[in-house]
Amino acid sequence: MDLFEWQAKELFAKYGVPTTRQVVVTSIDEVAAAADSLGGGPVMVKAQVKAGGRGKAGGVKFAPTTADAVEKAGPIMGMDIKGHTVRTLLISEAADIGEEYYFSFLLDRANRNYLAMCSSEGGMEIEELAVERPEALARVTVDPVAGVDAAKALEIATAGNIPEPVREKAAAVIEQLWQVFVGEEATLVEVNPLVRTPDDDVLALDGKVTLDDNADFRHESVHNGYRDISATDPLEVRAKELHLNYVKLDGEVGIIGNGAGLVMSTLDVVAYAGEEFGAVKPANFLDIGGGASAEVMANGLDVILSDPSVRSVFVNVFGGITSCDAVANGIVSALSLLTSRGEEVTKPLVVRLDGNNAEEGRRILTEANHPLVEQLDTMDGAARRAAELAGKAA
Ligand code: GDP
Ligand code: MN
Repeated sequence: MDLFEWQAKELFAKYGVPTTRQVVVTSIDEVAAAADSLGGGPVMVKAQVKAGGRGKAGGVKFAPTTADAVEKAGPIMGMDIKGHTVRTLLISEAADIGEEYYFSFLLDRANRNYLAMCSSEGGMEIEELAVERPEALARVTVDPVAGVDAAKALEIATAGNIPEPVREKAAAVIEQLWQVFVGEEATLVEVNPLVRTPDDDVLALDGKVTLDDNADFRHESVHNGYRDISATDPLEVRAKELHLNYVKLDGEVGIIGNGAGLVMSTLDVVAYAGEEFGAVKPANFLDIGGGASAEVMANGLDVILSDPSVRSVFVNVFGGITSCDAVANGIVSALSLLTSRGEEVTKPLVVRLDGNNAEEGRRILTEANHPLVEQLDTMDGAARRAAELAGKAA
Protein backbone atom coordinates (compact mmCIF):
# COMPACT_ATOMS: atom_id res chain seq x y z
CA MET A 1 0.00 0.00 0.00
CA ASP A 2 1.31 3.40 -1.02
CA LEU A 3 0.82 6.12 1.58
CA PHE A 4 -0.07 9.76 1.16
CA GLU A 5 2.64 12.27 2.04
CA TRP A 6 0.83 13.26 5.24
CA GLN A 7 0.76 9.63 6.37
CA ALA A 8 4.44 9.14 5.55
CA LYS A 9 5.36 12.26 7.51
CA GLU A 10 3.21 11.09 10.41
CA LEU A 11 5.21 7.85 10.51
CA PHE A 12 8.46 9.84 10.24
CA ALA A 13 7.46 11.88 13.30
CA LYS A 14 6.73 8.67 15.22
CA TYR A 15 10.37 7.63 14.73
CA GLY A 16 11.78 11.06 15.53
CA VAL A 17 12.68 11.97 11.94
CA PRO A 18 12.81 15.79 11.92
CA THR A 19 10.05 17.16 9.75
CA THR A 20 7.59 20.07 9.67
CA ARG A 21 4.34 20.29 11.65
CA GLN A 22 1.26 19.68 9.56
CA VAL A 23 -2.54 19.69 9.45
CA VAL A 24 -4.65 17.73 6.96
CA VAL A 25 -7.79 19.35 5.54
CA THR A 26 -10.50 18.09 3.23
CA SER A 27 -12.24 21.39 2.49
CA ILE A 28 -11.23 24.97 1.76
CA ASP A 29 -13.18 26.14 4.81
CA GLU A 30 -10.65 24.44 7.07
CA VAL A 31 -7.54 26.00 5.54
CA ALA A 32 -7.48 29.25 7.54
CA ALA A 33 -7.83 27.50 10.90
CA ALA A 34 -5.16 24.99 9.88
CA ALA A 35 -2.68 27.70 8.89
CA ASP A 36 -3.40 29.68 12.06
CA SER A 37 -2.93 26.60 14.23
CA LEU A 38 0.60 26.29 12.80
CA GLY A 39 1.40 29.77 14.05
CA GLY A 40 0.04 31.93 11.25
CA GLY A 41 3.47 32.15 9.64
CA PRO A 42 4.39 30.95 6.16
CA VAL A 43 2.96 27.56 5.21
CA MET A 44 3.05 25.17 2.28
CA VAL A 45 -0.24 24.14 0.67
CA LYS A 46 0.25 20.66 -0.76
CA ALA A 47 -2.03 18.46 -2.85
CA GLN A 48 -2.36 14.97 -1.34
CA VAL A 49 -2.43 12.48 -4.20
CA LYS A 50 -0.55 9.25 -4.64
CA ALA A 51 1.47 10.51 -7.59
CA GLY A 52 4.85 12.17 -7.91
CA GLY A 53 5.61 15.50 -9.51
CA ARG A 54 2.97 17.43 -7.60
CA GLY A 55 5.25 20.46 -7.45
CA LYS A 56 5.68 20.61 -11.22
CA ALA A 57 1.93 20.15 -11.71
CA GLY A 58 1.21 23.23 -9.57
CA GLY A 59 -0.02 21.22 -6.59
CA VAL A 60 2.56 22.53 -4.10
CA LYS A 61 2.52 26.24 -3.22
CA PHE A 62 4.28 28.46 -0.72
CA ALA A 63 1.96 30.83 1.18
CA PRO A 64 3.48 33.57 3.36
CA THR A 65 0.24 34.35 5.22
CA THR A 66 -2.97 32.62 6.23
CA ALA A 67 -4.98 34.71 3.75
CA ASP A 68 -2.56 33.68 1.01
CA ALA A 69 -2.86 30.02 2.03
CA VAL A 70 -6.64 30.18 1.56
CA GLU A 71 -6.17 31.80 -1.84
CA LYS A 72 -3.56 29.24 -2.99
CA ALA A 73 -5.65 26.31 -1.72
CA GLY A 74 -8.62 27.16 -3.96
CA PRO A 75 -7.21 26.09 -7.32
CA ILE A 76 -5.33 23.10 -5.84
CA MET A 77 -8.45 21.50 -4.32
CA GLY A 78 -10.12 19.50 -7.09
CA MET A 79 -7.09 19.75 -9.37
CA ASP A 80 -6.26 16.70 -11.49
CA ILE A 81 -2.69 15.44 -11.11
CA LYS A 82 -1.84 12.54 -13.40
CA GLY A 83 -5.40 11.23 -13.23
CA HIS A 84 -5.74 11.68 -9.47
CA THR A 85 -8.26 14.23 -8.21
CA VAL A 86 -7.08 16.28 -5.24
CA ARG A 87 -9.54 15.90 -2.35
CA THR A 88 -7.19 16.41 0.56
CA LEU A 89 -4.66 19.15 1.23
CA LEU A 90 -1.74 19.18 3.58
CA ILE A 91 -1.02 22.49 5.26
CA SER A 92 2.48 22.35 6.69
CA GLU A 93 4.87 24.83 8.21
CA ALA A 94 7.12 26.16 5.47
CA ALA A 95 10.78 25.53 6.16
CA ASP A 96 13.58 27.73 4.86
CA ILE A 97 15.56 25.74 2.35
CA GLY A 98 19.29 26.01 1.83
CA GLU A 99 19.89 22.86 -0.20
CA GLU A 100 17.71 19.92 -1.34
CA TYR A 101 18.96 16.34 -1.08
CA TYR A 102 17.48 13.01 -2.12
CA PHE A 103 17.29 9.89 0.02
CA SER A 104 15.56 6.50 -0.17
CA PHE A 105 15.58 2.95 1.14
CA LEU A 106 14.01 0.35 -1.09
CA LEU A 107 13.69 -3.31 -1.76
CA ASP A 108 16.09 -4.30 -4.53
CA ARG A 109 14.23 -7.34 -5.87
CA ALA A 110 16.70 -8.09 -8.66
CA ASN A 111 19.56 -8.38 -6.17
CA ARG A 112 17.48 -9.82 -3.34
CA ASN A 113 18.68 -7.07 -1.11
CA TYR A 114 17.93 -3.66 0.29
CA LEU A 115 19.28 -0.56 -1.36
CA ALA A 116 19.90 2.96 -0.15
CA MET A 117 19.99 5.79 -2.66
CA CYS A 118 21.35 9.18 -1.76
CA SER A 119 22.27 12.38 -3.55
CA SER A 120 23.22 15.91 -2.63
CA GLU A 121 21.32 17.00 -5.73
CA GLY A 122 17.72 16.28 -4.74
CA GLY A 123 14.52 18.16 -5.52
CA MET A 124 12.12 18.14 -8.38
CA GLU A 125 14.66 17.15 -11.08
CA ILE A 126 15.66 13.84 -9.51
CA GLU A 127 14.31 11.71 -12.38
CA GLU A 128 16.42 13.67 -14.88
CA LEU A 129 19.45 13.36 -12.63
CA ALA A 130 19.02 9.59 -12.41
CA VAL A 131 19.01 9.34 -16.20
CA GLU A 132 21.52 11.98 -17.20
CA ARG A 133 24.11 11.73 -14.41
CA PRO A 134 23.50 8.44 -12.62
CA GLU A 135 26.89 8.75 -10.93
CA ALA A 136 25.49 11.66 -8.91
CA LEU A 137 22.94 9.32 -7.33
CA ALA A 138 24.78 6.98 -4.98
CA ARG A 139 23.49 3.42 -4.64
CA VAL A 140 24.62 1.63 -1.52
CA THR A 141 23.64 -1.98 -0.81
CA VAL A 142 22.26 -2.61 2.66
CA ASP A 143 22.63 -6.05 4.19
CA PRO A 144 19.18 -6.87 5.63
CA VAL A 145 20.70 -8.73 8.56
CA ALA A 146 23.32 -6.14 9.49
CA GLY A 147 20.92 -3.23 8.90
CA VAL A 148 21.96 0.41 9.17
CA ASP A 149 23.98 1.63 12.13
CA ALA A 150 25.71 5.00 12.56
CA ALA A 151 28.73 3.91 10.53
CA LYS A 152 26.64 2.55 7.66
CA ALA A 153 24.48 5.69 7.65
CA LEU A 154 27.60 7.85 7.42
CA GLU A 155 28.89 5.68 4.57
CA ILE A 156 25.62 6.32 2.69
CA ALA A 157 25.66 10.07 3.35
CA THR A 158 29.28 10.25 2.22
CA ALA A 159 28.59 8.26 -0.94
CA GLY A 160 25.72 10.67 -1.70
CA ASN A 161 28.09 13.61 -1.35
CA ILE A 162 26.14 15.23 1.48
CA PRO A 163 28.26 18.27 2.42
CA GLU A 164 30.55 17.89 5.42
CA PRO A 165 28.87 20.47 7.73
CA VAL A 166 25.57 18.51 7.80
CA ARG A 167 26.81 15.02 6.98
CA GLU A 168 26.57 13.74 10.56
CA LYS A 169 23.08 15.17 10.94
CA ALA A 170 21.97 13.65 7.66
CA ALA A 171 23.42 10.30 8.75
CA ALA A 172 21.42 10.47 11.98
CA VAL A 173 18.25 11.03 9.94
CA ILE A 174 19.18 8.12 7.67
CA GLU A 175 19.44 5.88 10.74
CA GLN A 176 15.97 6.98 11.84
CA LEU A 177 14.56 6.40 8.36
CA TRP A 178 15.96 2.87 8.53
CA GLN A 179 13.95 2.38 11.72
CA VAL A 180 10.84 3.53 9.83
CA PHE A 181 11.65 1.13 6.98
CA VAL A 182 12.17 -1.88 9.24
CA GLY A 183 9.71 -1.00 12.01
CA GLU A 184 6.80 -0.43 9.66
CA GLU A 185 7.84 -3.19 7.23
CA ALA A 186 8.01 -0.84 4.27
CA THR A 187 9.29 -1.70 0.82
CA LEU A 188 10.02 1.95 0.08
CA VAL A 189 10.86 4.97 2.20
CA GLU A 190 11.75 7.98 0.10
CA VAL A 191 12.48 11.56 1.13
CA ASN A 192 12.77 14.16 -1.61
CA PRO A 193 13.63 16.76 -0.67
CA LEU A 194 15.61 16.06 2.45
CA VAL A 195 16.68 19.64 3.10
CA ARG A 196 19.50 21.52 4.71
CA THR A 197 18.15 24.67 6.30
CA PRO A 198 20.15 27.92 6.47
CA ASP A 199 20.81 27.04 10.15
CA ASP A 200 22.28 23.69 9.09
CA ASP A 201 19.42 21.57 10.29
CA VAL A 202 18.29 18.56 8.26
CA LEU A 203 14.54 18.11 7.66
CA ALA A 204 12.35 15.69 5.70
CA LEU A 205 9.96 17.90 3.70
CA ASP A 206 8.28 15.22 1.61
CA GLY A 207 7.74 11.50 2.14
CA LYS A 208 6.83 8.58 0.01
CA VAL A 209 6.28 5.28 1.80
CA THR A 210 5.06 1.92 0.52
CA LEU A 211 4.02 -0.55 3.21
CA ASP A 212 4.27 -4.28 2.58
CA ASP A 213 0.69 -5.59 2.35
CA ASN A 214 1.93 -9.05 3.31
CA ALA A 215 2.75 -7.62 6.74
CA ASP A 216 -0.74 -6.14 7.22
CA PHE A 217 -1.56 -8.57 10.00
CA ARG A 218 1.35 -7.34 12.11
CA HIS A 219 0.38 -3.67 11.79
CA GLU A 220 -3.38 -3.73 11.74
CA SER A 221 -4.04 -0.41 13.41
CA VAL A 222 -1.58 1.52 11.21
CA HIS A 223 -2.50 -0.22 7.97
CA ASN A 224 -6.26 -0.13 8.49
CA GLY A 225 -6.07 3.51 9.51
CA TYR A 226 -4.18 4.43 6.35
CA ARG A 227 -6.09 2.32 3.86
CA ASP A 228 -7.78 4.53 1.29
CA ILE A 229 -10.85 2.71 0.02
CA SER A 230 -11.60 5.46 -2.51
CA ALA A 231 -8.33 4.81 -4.34
CA THR A 232 -8.83 1.03 -4.51
CA ASP A 233 -10.80 -0.55 -7.33
CA PRO A 234 -14.40 -1.05 -6.05
CA LEU A 235 -14.48 -4.62 -7.39
CA GLU A 236 -11.31 -5.42 -5.45
CA VAL A 237 -12.85 -3.92 -2.31
CA ARG A 238 -15.95 -6.09 -2.77
CA ALA A 239 -13.89 -9.20 -3.51
CA LYS A 240 -11.87 -8.58 -0.37
CA GLU A 241 -15.06 -8.38 1.70
CA LEU A 242 -16.07 -11.75 0.21
CA HIS A 243 -12.58 -13.13 1.09
CA LEU A 244 -11.84 -13.80 -2.56
CA ASN A 245 -8.34 -13.84 -3.99
CA TYR A 246 -9.12 -11.35 -6.76
CA VAL A 247 -7.02 -8.89 -8.74
CA LYS A 248 -8.61 -6.63 -11.35
CA LEU A 249 -6.80 -6.47 -14.70
CA ASP A 250 -7.78 -4.46 -17.75
CA GLY A 251 -8.86 -7.09 -20.26
CA GLU A 252 -12.19 -8.59 -21.35
CA VAL A 253 -12.07 -12.30 -20.43
CA GLY A 254 -13.12 -13.01 -16.84
CA ILE A 255 -11.04 -15.78 -15.27
CA ILE A 256 -11.91 -18.20 -12.47
CA GLY A 257 -9.69 -21.07 -11.52
CA ASN A 258 -8.67 -23.17 -8.56
CA GLY A 259 -5.11 -22.75 -7.39
CA ALA A 260 -2.89 -19.71 -7.94
CA GLY A 261 -0.52 -21.52 -10.31
CA LEU A 262 -3.31 -22.72 -12.56
CA VAL A 263 -4.89 -19.25 -12.64
CA MET A 264 -1.56 -17.63 -13.49
CA SER A 265 -0.99 -19.96 -16.42
CA THR A 266 -4.62 -19.43 -17.48
CA LEU A 267 -3.88 -15.72 -17.75
CA ASP A 268 -0.96 -16.47 -20.06
CA VAL A 269 -2.91 -18.89 -22.22
CA VAL A 270 -5.85 -16.48 -22.58
CA ALA A 271 -3.59 -13.54 -23.42
CA TYR A 272 -1.88 -15.67 -26.05
CA ALA A 273 -5.14 -16.96 -27.55
CA GLY A 274 -6.61 -13.45 -27.44
CA GLU A 275 -4.07 -12.10 -29.90
CA GLU A 276 -6.05 -13.74 -32.66
CA PHE A 277 -9.31 -12.01 -31.66
CA GLY A 278 -8.39 -8.35 -31.55
CA ALA A 279 -5.94 -8.68 -28.66
CA VAL A 280 -8.49 -9.49 -25.96
CA LYS A 281 -6.90 -10.05 -22.57
CA PRO A 282 -7.73 -11.50 -19.15
CA ALA A 283 -9.97 -9.18 -17.12
CA ASN A 284 -8.88 -10.42 -13.72
CA PHE A 285 -7.10 -12.98 -11.59
CA LEU A 286 -9.42 -15.02 -9.36
CA ASP A 287 -8.35 -18.08 -7.45
CA ILE A 288 -11.30 -19.77 -5.73
CA GLY A 289 -8.94 -22.13 -3.94
CA GLY A 290 -9.39 -25.76 -3.03
CA GLY A 291 -12.94 -25.90 -1.67
CA ALA A 292 -14.81 -24.26 -4.56
CA SER A 293 -18.21 -24.46 -2.93
CA ALA A 294 -21.31 -23.20 -4.74
CA GLU A 295 -21.25 -20.09 -2.59
CA VAL A 296 -17.62 -19.26 -3.38
CA MET A 297 -18.28 -19.94 -7.07
CA ALA A 298 -21.37 -17.69 -6.95
CA ASN A 299 -19.48 -14.90 -5.21
CA GLY A 300 -16.65 -15.21 -7.70
CA LEU A 301 -18.97 -15.16 -10.70
CA ASP A 302 -20.88 -12.29 -9.17
CA VAL A 303 -17.76 -10.11 -8.88
CA ILE A 304 -16.53 -11.02 -12.36
CA LEU A 305 -19.88 -10.56 -14.08
CA SER A 306 -20.37 -7.15 -12.50
CA ASP A 307 -17.17 -5.94 -14.16
CA PRO A 308 -18.50 -3.98 -17.16
CA SER A 309 -15.43 -4.76 -19.27
CA VAL A 310 -15.95 -8.52 -18.98
CA ARG A 311 -17.43 -10.02 -22.17
CA SER A 312 -16.91 -13.74 -21.53
CA VAL A 313 -15.83 -15.88 -18.58
CA PHE A 314 -13.42 -18.80 -18.54
CA VAL A 315 -13.86 -21.22 -15.64
CA ASN A 316 -10.75 -23.38 -15.57
CA VAL A 317 -10.75 -26.11 -12.94
CA PHE A 318 -8.41 -28.96 -12.33
CA GLY A 319 -9.97 -31.36 -9.87
CA GLY A 320 -7.57 -32.50 -7.19
CA ILE A 321 -8.80 -32.89 -3.65
CA THR A 322 -11.97 -31.18 -4.82
CA SER A 323 -13.53 -33.37 -7.44
CA CYS A 324 -14.96 -31.99 -10.66
CA ASP A 325 -18.51 -33.16 -9.94
CA ALA A 326 -18.53 -30.96 -6.83
CA VAL A 327 -17.26 -28.03 -8.91
CA ALA A 328 -19.86 -28.69 -11.63
CA ASN A 329 -22.61 -28.75 -9.03
CA GLY A 330 -21.10 -25.55 -7.68
CA ILE A 331 -21.36 -23.87 -11.07
CA VAL A 332 -24.96 -25.00 -11.57
CA SER A 333 -26.05 -23.82 -8.11
CA ALA A 334 -24.03 -20.63 -8.50
CA LEU A 335 -25.95 -19.77 -11.65
CA SER A 336 -29.31 -20.32 -10.01
CA LEU A 337 -28.11 -18.54 -6.86
CA LEU A 338 -27.27 -15.49 -8.98
CA THR A 339 -30.62 -15.63 -10.72
CA SER A 340 -32.39 -15.86 -7.37
CA ARG A 341 -30.40 -12.83 -6.17
CA GLY A 342 -31.97 -11.03 -9.10
CA GLU A 343 -28.75 -10.81 -11.09
CA GLU A 344 -29.26 -11.79 -14.66
CA VAL A 345 -26.40 -13.76 -16.17
CA THR A 346 -25.96 -12.56 -19.74
CA LYS A 347 -22.32 -13.27 -20.50
CA PRO A 348 -21.14 -16.58 -21.94
CA LEU A 349 -19.24 -19.00 -19.69
CA VAL A 350 -16.65 -21.39 -21.05
CA VAL A 351 -15.88 -24.23 -18.67
CA ARG A 352 -13.03 -26.67 -18.76
CA LEU A 353 -13.03 -29.43 -16.17
CA ASP A 354 -10.19 -31.88 -15.86
CA GLY A 355 -8.70 -34.14 -13.24
CA ASN A 356 -10.49 -35.94 -10.42
CA ASN A 357 -13.95 -37.08 -11.57
CA ALA A 358 -13.91 -34.87 -14.68
CA GLU A 359 -16.31 -37.06 -16.61
CA GLU A 360 -19.00 -36.90 -13.96
CA GLY A 361 -18.50 -33.13 -13.73
CA ARG A 362 -18.95 -32.70 -17.46
CA ARG A 363 -22.07 -34.87 -17.40
CA ILE A 364 -23.62 -32.68 -14.70
CA LEU A 365 -23.02 -29.54 -16.74
CA THR A 366 -24.29 -31.12 -19.95
CA GLU A 367 -27.42 -32.23 -18.17
CA ALA A 368 -28.02 -28.81 -16.63
CA ASN A 369 -27.90 -27.50 -20.19
CA HIS A 370 -27.55 -23.83 -19.25
CA PRO A 371 -27.85 -21.75 -22.44
CA LEU A 372 -24.77 -19.64 -21.65
CA VAL A 373 -22.47 -22.45 -20.54
CA GLU A 374 -20.22 -24.13 -23.03
CA GLN A 375 -17.73 -26.91 -22.25
CA LEU A 376 -14.37 -27.66 -23.80
CA ASP A 377 -12.00 -30.48 -22.97
CA THR A 378 -8.66 -28.74 -23.10
CA MET A 379 -7.29 -25.64 -21.46
CA ASP A 380 -5.96 -24.25 -24.76
CA GLY A 381 -9.21 -24.95 -26.57
CA ALA A 382 -11.29 -23.36 -23.84
CA ALA A 383 -9.01 -20.32 -23.64
CA ARG A 384 -9.32 -19.84 -27.38
CA ARG A 385 -13.12 -20.14 -27.29
CA ALA A 386 -13.42 -17.68 -24.36
CA ALA A 387 -11.19 -15.22 -26.22
CA GLU A 388 -13.22 -15.70 -29.39
CA LEU A 389 -16.49 -14.98 -27.54
CA ALA A 390 -14.99 -11.87 -25.94
CA GLY A 391 -13.73 -10.72 -29.31
CA LYS A 392 -17.07 -11.30 -31.02
CA ALA A 393 -19.05 -9.54 -28.32
CA ALA A 394 -17.06 -6.34 -28.97
P1 GDP B 1 6.57 16.65 -5.21
O1 GDP B 1 6.82 17.63 -6.32
O2 GDP B 1 5.32 15.86 -5.42
O3 GDP B 1 7.75 15.77 -4.96
O4 GDP B 1 6.31 17.54 -3.87
P2 GDP B 1 7.34 18.07 -2.77
O5 GDP B 1 6.69 17.93 -1.45
O6 GDP B 1 8.66 17.44 -2.90
O7 GDP B 1 7.43 19.61 -3.06
C1 GDP B 1 7.99 20.11 -4.25
C2 GDP B 1 8.96 21.23 -3.95
O8 GDP B 1 8.32 22.22 -3.16
C3 GDP B 1 10.17 20.81 -3.17
O9 GDP B 1 11.17 20.27 -3.97
C4 GDP B 1 10.59 22.12 -2.53
O10 GDP B 1 11.38 22.85 -3.44
C5 GDP B 1 9.28 22.84 -2.34
N1 GDP B 1 8.90 22.74 -0.92
C6 GDP B 1 8.32 21.68 -0.30
N2 GDP B 1 8.20 21.93 1.02
C7 GDP B 1 8.73 23.15 1.24
C8 GDP B 1 8.93 23.98 2.41
O11 GDP B 1 8.59 23.63 3.55
N3 GDP B 1 9.51 25.19 2.22
C9 GDP B 1 9.90 25.64 0.99
N4 GDP B 1 10.47 26.82 0.90
N5 GDP B 1 9.75 24.90 -0.12
C10 GDP B 1 9.17 23.67 0.00
MN1 MN C 1 9.05 15.40 -3.50
